[in-house]
Amino acid sequence: MKVLILKSFIDHDIISEALAAQKADDATLAAILAKAEKSEPLSQTEVAQLLLVEDAGHIAEMNRIAGEIKDRIYGRRVVMFAPLYVSDYCVNNCSYCGYSHKNQFNRRRLSMDEIKREVEILESMGHKRLALEAGEDPVNCDIDYITDAMEAIYSVQKGNGSIRRINVNIAATTVENYKKLESKGIGTYILFQETYDDTAYLEHHQGGPKRNYLYHLTAFDRAMEAGIEDVGGGVLFGLADYRSEVLALLQHNAHLEEVYGVGFHTVSVPRLKKALGMDLAQYPHIVTDEQFKRIVTVLRLALPYVGIILSTRETPEIRDELLRCGISQLSAGSVTGVGGYEERENGEDISQFSVDDERSPIEIIKSLVDSGYIPSYCTACYRSGRTGDRFMQLAKSGKIGYVCEPNALMTLLEYIQDYGDDELKAKGYKFIDEHAKTIDNPKVREMTLSRIERLKNGERDLYV
Ligand code: SAM
Repeated sequence: MKVLILKSFIDHDIISEALAAQKADDATLAAILAKAEKSEPLSQTEVAQLLLVEDAGHIAEMNRIAGEIKDRIYGRRVVMFAPLYVSDYCVNNCSYCGYSHKNQFNRRRLSMDEIKREVEILESMGHKRLALEAGEDPVNCDIDYITDAMEAIYSVQKGNGSIRRINVNIAATTVENYKKLESKGIGTYILFQETYDDTAYLEHHQGGPKRNYLYHLTAFDRAMEAGIEDVGGGVLFGLADYRSEVLALLQHNAHLEEVYGVGFHTVSVPRLKKALGMDLAQYPHIVTDEQFKRIVTVLRLALPYVGIILSTRETPEIRDELLRCGISQLSAGSVTGVGGYEERENGEDISQFSVDDERSPIEIIKSLVDSGYIPSYCTACYRSGRTGDRFMQLAKSGKIGYVCEPNALMTLLEYIQDYGDDELKAKGYKFIDEHAKTIDNPKVREMTLSRIERLKNGERDLYV
């Protein structure tokens, strides 16, 4: 076992130098984009140059290439999931968060029965993959509560519904606690750095254990040490200069690759939203839609194999646009409050922050299908042991598409059969059949077509 040292691996001097470098001329930019197209690693200066491009034609070209990279590696599939908030107790004072300790409201954590009811609602929406979310509170929401919650979630089976992968987004913790999450079948351990700028970090994390920048920054080292192979990073865009944040996020990924042989499994790009007890006007680094689009494009160019996750914090229009710049995972039908799914059914709403895409999953599914994307409820890689380095090797070999597309089509078919309305059935079956016939590898195509038949005849949970 490695001795884990609380030491920063983020080099802010390199970031400043990269951003101060000359803007790329046309030939240099073309060379950087050619490297990105071949999925070759980009240096910090090259990424900075992509972030600094101003010409509209060049920007359109970058967006196009980013979208093509995602399609080439993962096909047209878009992975679907929903968050599940189980506890809003929190001992931290994060300036931007509705759960902040300074905010006075009736806090709650769900009982195991309440969790099961939320999961039944999520399953009846067709979800198979959840992100478990909780505030940090060692007394009211300790690790055993979280692992009990995971067991409760995995135990619920409503109709043909079941949760097949739980990603967990809880505060930075110890190797022992990460081992407990691993033993209960965690999918990805997700933790947003919020900001890599240590000064801004202290400004926005005014109290509680999360104020410790280094402890937060080194959380994935402990998670990987504990045996968790898939970790998901992210920045809360709006707390500091977005260009520096992108470069720092890439340094974090490089650190994990260097030390553990595998970097981020996913990256999330939450953008700061209005929440209880905070005023967006107090945040000078709010990113515009154009800047946000650049963030996603550059991340896709620099991290071709990493899942990039977009939440319902964004409007349907922006989500549609960003899908064309390399987004590969979307949340759908989300509520961001504890017990929120049942409350929404009862017409109430308490949330951690506001959401801007309020469409139901089925509306999102229809819109994706109309745009030629395959909504995917696939969880096969994790269940087949294709995690960490094994997943990345498959992605880098160019063969991941041979499992992603069939699994996406098969899980979409399950969704349509179990939760689809007449409109979705009418367009969905045709869409799936047409797509399956275009799979270029004959063996994969035949196997997919035969499994599609089996699913139509009532079998479930087939995957490769
Ligand atoms: N307690 C865990 C932690 O400290 O990492 C989980 C945090 S919370 C349930 C998930 C994420 O919501 C946070 O990491 C933060 O990035 C995001 N978030 C909090 N307030 C937000 C806001 N006002 N707008 C957008 N995202 C926000």
